[in-house]
Amino acid sequence: LIVHMKPGITCESGLGKSTLINSLFLTDLYPERVIPGAAEKIERTVQIEASTVEIEERGVKLRLTVVDTPGYGDAINSQDCFSTIISYIDDQFERYLHDESGLNRRHIVDNRVHCCFYFISPLGHGLKPLDVQFMKAIHNKVNVVPVIAKADTLTLRERERLKRRILDEIDEHGIKIYHLPDAESDEDEDFKEQTRILKASIPFAVVGSNQQIEAKGKKVRGRLYPWGVVEVENPEHNDFLKLRTMLITHMQDLQEVTQDLHYENFRSDRLKRGGRKGPEPEEMDKDMILQEKEAEVGYFRLQYFLGFSKEIWNML
Ligand code: GDP
Repeated sequence: LIVHMKPGITCESGLGKSTLINSLFLTDLYPERVIPGAAEKIERTVQIEASTVEIEERGVKLRLTVVDTPGYGDAINSQDCFSTIISYIDDQFERYLHDESGLNRRHIVDNRVHCCFYFISPLGHGLKPLDVQFMKAIHNKVNVVPVIAKADTLTLRERERLKRRILDEIDEHGIKIYHLPDAESDEDEDFKEQTRILKASIPFAVVGSNQQIEAKGKKVRGRLYPWGVVEVENPEHNDFLKLRTMLITHMQDLQEVTQDLHYENFRSDRLKRGGRKGPEPEEMDKDMILQEKEAEVGYFRLQYFLGFSKEIWNML
């Protein structure tokens, strides 16, 4: 599963994206990262970084590649950021399309982006015009999961209000976010209830931290404030655990939607545009037969024409 992370589009970086990823996978993905200075920011383009982490969930080992765009939001020209990220997603589709039509189809490495966490700033009063633009630019290519960053900076009421506002704006602008499928009727009640809660929590308001803090006699991942500790993995404090559960329980669905919807969109668009870069083998065969038929027809046409002109010639 590939998760595509993106920090919010603000002039300064630091919506807590890498901290959240570390919290999610209990790793430190970027231990040597250097925060760029102002001069560097202007020059910076969006760099795509991919790191693979292994997580174990109820005994099942999952290999997860996180693709991060550390410079996004820092670069002055946001259109450049857009196009770098969009080309990255398209390149992975392109590679898959190419491999799928190759000889070694059984051993394709699936590097397609299955999910994009879109970080929204807690400081605004909803979506920024750039958020709308970006989500619309990618919503037909990848599963977008909106996330409110640094939720500990909001009171409960502010959090609820911001969630409602974001959902209304998503609706108003026709942005297509990832919809969790309803639980099947034969699923157990706990799973149904979990799905209902997850659905009701979108956009997930999350808190991340790279620090272990002592709270109620236990060491927990959290943020220490003069008035207390915000615990990352406490569902009463924020939606971090819900986001993590969503990712793990719906991993297969995220992959299926990527295959059936986003990849299909890409593939049919490709074929419509007459792109010849790696059509499906069946398509390729059909194409070749058509071309051969065309050549035959052309050949016969030519013969007929010569014969005809010969007859006319003889008649004259
Ligand atoms: P990135 O640039 O989006 O990857 O942001 P970082 O993860 O580097 O975080 C930038 C700053 O925000 C750091 O000082 C973090 O300690 C802080 N931060 C990260 N997550 C949170 C959070 O959930 N709440 C608050 N209040 N601060 C956070």
